[in-house]
Amino acid sequence: MTTSILRFHNDVEIAQAVETSRQTFKSGHTRPLKFRRHQLEQLWRLLDDNTDQICEALYKDLRKHKNECVLGELVPSKEEINDALEHLEEWAKDVKVTPALINRVGVTCLKRKEPKGSVLIISPWNYPVFLTIGPMVGAIAAGCTAVIKPSEVAPHTAKILTELFPRYLDSRAYIVINGAAHETTKLLENKWDHIFYTGNGMVAKIIMKAAAQHLTSLTLELGGKSPVIIDENANMTVAAKRVAFGKTFNAGQTCVAPDYVLVTAKAEEKFVAALKKAMQELLGSNPQSSTDYGRIINNRHFHRLSKVLSENQSGEIVIGGQTDEKDLYIAPTVVANVDRDDKLMEDEIFGPLLPMIRVADIDDAIEFINSKDDPLALYVFSSNKKLINKVMDSTRSGGVLINDTLMHVAEGNLPFGGTGPSGMGAYHGVESFRCFTHERSTMIKDLNPVSEFLMAVRYAPYTSTNLKI
Ligand code: NAD
Repeated sequence: MTTSILRFHNDVEIAQAVETSRQTFKSGHTRPLKFRRHQLEQLWRLLDDNTDQICEALYKDLRKHKNECVLGELVPSKEEINDALEHLEEWAKDVKVTPALINRVGVTCLKRKEPKGSVLIISPWNYPVFLTIGPMVGAIAAGCTAVIKPSEVAPHTAKILTELFPRYLDSRAYIVINGAAHETTKLLENKWDHIFYTGNGMVAKIIMKAAAQHLTSLTLELGGKSPVIIDENANMTVAAKRVAFGKTFNAGQTCVAPDYVLVTAKAEEKFVAALKKAMQELLGSNPQSSTDYGRIINNRHFHRLSKVLSENQSGEIVIGGQTDEKDLYIAPTVVANVDRDDKLMEDEIFGPLLPMIRVADIDDAIEFINSKDDPLALYVFSSNKKLINKVMDSTRSGGVLINDTLMHVAEGNLPFGGTGPSGMGAYHGVESFRCFTHERSTMIKDLNPVSEFLMAVRYAPYTSTNLKI
């Protein structure tokens, strides 16, 4: 099969890719640090040499402004590569540990950092470069081989990555397979040494079932409804600007985009006024004519979002509300005073709609958050340390960010991942290396008769009377 832009691989090609990836790993080709370093450098060059072409593809898929490509895709990808290049030797070296008393003589105990093997990376469409390159950095640094399945939903980006990878990377070690559910299902029938999946929770269950057949380890980077708490005493101008940024960047199609706002009735008016001003400053009075604002990825997602907006039963649209199917445009839209069981509050929005829910106080906000699945991110806008700590101590989420949105994802030294339905495992920085590494417990003993004599207490017949615990 094929989309008009992207050729899907057939079953024979898929089988060949799986076999090549396995054989290349077996040969030991990807293990030397020199090889890994070179591939990481090549990946960096790929991004650097082809910035314009990559940004063009992202524009075609998502109407991403070049600044959003650079900030949201290229810079974080390059930072991941730089971090891996800087720390590769340190991450990959054996770690010696002190042996227990019973093994103290003539023994070395090590954690050997071994590549897991031949891995499968399945990525989504919303940040199709960063969410493909990011896990690849971990796989390459760890010494694995990988089959990479980009999202067919962002076909221009999938196509450019398919063309560029073999020009820069070792094509026996890193192989792209294109396709949709059928092709991914075929890939999943095989035994992998790790599967790294980024996408929605429904497909994650399919991935997990497939992995269970072979008892394969998994990283699942999923989504969820990430709440924003606005404290009455927060600086509304700053809070609104940062919420507006998080909701309009990539037209809200971000896994950690603010999904809904919790605010008291008393603070609602002030926050909405600040949000109106912030939106105006970011995208002007008609966001459709702003070249800075992206579009919904395709018709399916446009209809999904329009339907949620038109079926919502409660609240009042205080900002936006306009849609244009031909242009796949949905205005940044804020719906105030939404009921807690409204359509807008069912699934992750994953678009530029922002419902606001009135809460009585901070306890009410915490209770509401805890009545739902653990989100991928939780945002609190407040200068009240007691309130902030109370929220952090009594809720759970993949990550928490105080007084901003999205920006924690850029921190390579913080693990990025969900909890419960928002994901399993984490990556970025050293965590990416860990995803694809097996820490092999290694004990090496000598055959020295003196060691044997000193450690003989373990052998029967048990004659010693001096054993103490
Ligand atoms: P998508 O539709 O591109 O799907 C992701 C991948 O799964 C694609 O490669 C696709 O081909 C594959 N796939 C789809 N259906 C399949 C099936 N039936 N069997 C096997 N494979 C299948 O992307 P999406 O799922 O719409 O992505 C959006 C979701 O991803 C949101 O929930 C978002 O929050 C989440 N997300 C999470 C992160 C994160 O880092 N945690 C990042 C981005 C997106």
